[in-house]
Amino acid sequence: MYEVHVDQRKCSGAGICVQQMPSVFRFQPGSKKGYAQEPQQPDERADALYHVAMQCPSGAIVVTKKNGA
Ligand code: SF4
Repeated sequence: MYEVHVDQRKCSGAGICVQQMPSVFRFQPGSKKGYAQEPQQPDERADALYHVAMQCPSGAIVVTKKNGA
């Protein structure tokens, strides 16, 4: 199991995350900042999550592996 978060202080609203993984990332209502609508993500998504995190121009996407589950 993985957890994904967007650091709201770093996010510049570039929207790459929302474009690439719309099932995971959304824009905050009323702003162009991304957030993970479902922070808990299965292992199968890890590669794709890290890929999107590397593409975020602000380095705002944090992917963490959780123990257990
Ligand atoms: S790609 Fe990065 S900067 Fe752009 S909306 Fe997503 S988290 Fe924010």
